[in-house]
Amino acid sequence: MASVVTETLDPFQTAQGQVRQAVAALGAPQAVFEYLREPCRVLVCSIPVQMDDGHVRSFIGYRAQHTDVIGPTKGGVRFHPQVTLDEVKALSIWMTFKCALLGLPYGGAKGGVVCDPQELSVHELEQLSRGYIRAISAIIGPERDIPAPDVNTNAKLMGFMLDEFDRLKGQNTPGLITGKPLVLGGSKGRDEATGRGCAVVIREAAQVMGFSLAGATVALQGFGNVGSNTARILSEMGCTVTAVVDAQGGAYNPNGLSIHALQEWTQEHRTVAAFPGSQPLTSEELFALPVDIIVPAALESQITARVARSVKAKLIAEAANGPTTPEGSDVLFARGIRVIPDILASAGGVTVSYFEWVQNLMNYYWPESEVQEKLERMMVDSFHAMAEMADRHAVTFRKAAFMVGIERLSQAMAARGWIA
Ligand code: GLU
Repeated sequence: MASVVTETLDPFQTAQGQVRQAVAALGAPQAVFEYLREPCRVLVCSIPVQMDDGHVRSFIGYRAQHTDVIGPTKGGVRFHPQVTLDEVKALSIWMTFKCALLGLPYGGAKGGVVCDPQELSVHELEQLSRGYIRAISAIIGPERDIPAPDVNTNAKLMGFMLDEFDRLKGQNTPGLITGKPLVLGGSKGRDEATGRGCAVVIREAAQVMGFSLAGATVALQGFGNVGSNTARILSEMGCTVTAVVDAQGGAYNPNGLSIHALQEWTQEHRTVAAFPGSQPLTSEELFALPVDIIVPAALESQITARVARSVKAKLIAEAANGPTTPEGSDVLFARGIRVIPDILASAGGVTVSYFEWVQNLMNYYWPESEVQEKLERMMVDSFHAMAEMADRHAVTFRKAAFMVGIERLSQAMAARGWIA
């Protein structure tokens, strides 16, 4: 009888398991896990919005703040119909580990609003953004918790959120939120930062694995901010992007897709599907393509054990948060496929958010070249901190990345006298 693998599809369970395993692998005190197993604070709110036709509709919003042991909490806000409290809690844990791995002076947080942004007008989205910030205003601030963009949110919505907070408090607080429009104190290079960070660690991994990016083929799941910037920067580094899939459909051309043309196409059609010169493709087919690198840049739990068994790529770089289930990870490991884990591959965004916050606090703004150079250095250093930990303990990159995080978090706990 074939053995039945139970798939862990709840991201919160996955995140907790990752923390538990990293604590055990380092022999850190059990108290470290107790401090990190749940977010220290969770807020659930109802956000009433007057819709364009005059009727009032309520939306559910969440904000989870995981730990403030290293600094104020930090993390994005996503607008998505499938957002759940457990998902937001998991994402807040992953933010803690991203920040710890990158050496940023933050703990993790995450927010979410259950809504379908495709169904809302620009005005309704603005009202929802303002209502969300009013609802969480008592627990956020530049020294407490700093929101940012995530899935389906962007600089424009951050501008409305910042304005709402400033009206409420009667002051200007640019350090409240990152990923803002440049004119309100946003940082140069923030828009493309997650994609650039992902491309940089792919380049480092390719070097360690002994293959060249020149001519390496890439398939991406997701073509939003993160997917499209990763695709563009990888193609500038010499890769050939052959496939992209989004929520509406896919585009495949074994000879390569022009990323610039594909970006123009998606701006107009809001999907990569039917891109001229391409064949249609599903996500399932994308993961099984004969390419060198796969970049999941969409949502959680996409690479299950079953999907992992079909992967032919040698490297996966997780630009999304939590795209691989624990069972999927085990299959990839057993098959010798290297994975750059989400807490590193997607950390470029929060890293430049940190630079933005620093610039806001000193009211002095850096040129884009300085942002890129600093991002590059922090991504490379963190890649090597993870790779060294992986070598030292003979563990996967994922486990090693969490272990680097646990090492730093437990040092902070000890320094605060929380643990012996
Ligand atoms: N939402 C992004 C992430 O998941 C960025 C968070 C931030 O900049 O605070 O990493």
